[in-house]
Amino acid sequence: MQKALILFRAEDIDVSARDFMSTYASYMREVGIVGKEPNGHVKFPSKTAPVEEGYAEFFDEWVTLSEALEIHTAVSMDLYTDAWFARDPKYQTMTASGQSMPHQICPNREEFWEYGAEIVKELGAYPIDEILLFGVGFIRDEFCFCDRCRKEFAPLVDQEPARLTHGYLTENPDYHDKWHEWRTEKVLQGLRVLQSAADSLIGDEGSRFKPLRISVEVLVDPESGLTEGAKKAYGYDYTKIREITGGLMINLFPWSPVIPAPGTAEYTDLVESMYFVKEFSRRGGIVSLFRWGVSSIEQLRELKALGKDVGIDRFVTSFGYPKDYPVRRESAIGNY
Ligand SMILES: [Zn+2]
Repeated sequence: MQKALILFRAEDIDVSARDFMSTYASYMREVGIVGKEPNGHVKFPSKTAPVEEGYAEFFDEWVTLSEALEIHTAVSMDLYTDAWFARDPKYQTMTASGQSMPHQICPNREEFWEYGAEIVKELGAYPIDEILLFGVGFIRDEFCFCDRCRKEFAPLVDQEPARLTHGYLTENPDYHDKWHEWRTEKVLQGLRVLQSAADSLIGDEGSRFKPLRISVEVLVDPESGLTEGAKKAYGYDYTKIREITGGLMINLFPWSPVIPAPGTAEYTDLVESMYFVKEFSRRGGIVSLFRWGVSSIEQLRELKALGKDVGIDRFVTSFGYPKDYPVRRESAIGNY
């Protein structure tokens, strides 16, 4: 049995949580279950988010048993990838030409951070160990040009909100740098709000005795320039993420089907781009290597071989892709 944390979906398991655990628990040190889907619905009882009916009992039994069996228990939560919250157009993230994204929230929304924080608290009331936080950054460099972002950012580059374009930013390297810094700060601010919600559950005020770790998904793909390009495209700062949550989950090649073979120039580039991983771990952070759609031992071996070369020994996988994957891929790397 290859050790990895597999992120399951309740609907893919055709037996009860009890039967599943009694069959597989002895093979698992860690296990994950989807908690909040990119459609915005959650699969546990919630007073905050819309609940997908029929999973509450399964969820409760799953996390309770896995805790009792001393299996490290993770629950996934999509953040800005939230089509339910985005049903209100004012929250949709937008291109400069006004094309809005009905599947994704603008990360510059304090009230959405608070919404996410409430969901973190609800999850943390269960005996789970970790939240795998997906959909954390901007869609790409061309986002976000919603009214709020225009109004806030345009004055920083001496422009009128209505006249701000992506071209205006790319023509001036200083403006473009400011764009990246400003967007990264929004992403980090959102994470701070979620982390403080997790921290609030511990100690005198809260009901938890053990910390609730948040592992933050970062997308690393050749289409967006591996780890360096990802900082600018999506708004990441790996060092700050370590300081805020301590957990990073590298979603390897989310938009590209094939991982380069060892020995190729592309493989060397990929390994070199992961330079920050060792420092991240040395300073106490936990880095996991994640991939969607891992359904064979060969794919897992490939992931582990790369992990060995870059200094990562924790692996998280899911059998399938997110349900909105085609839309998400198109918005991230398609043509406008
Ligand atoms: Zn915006």
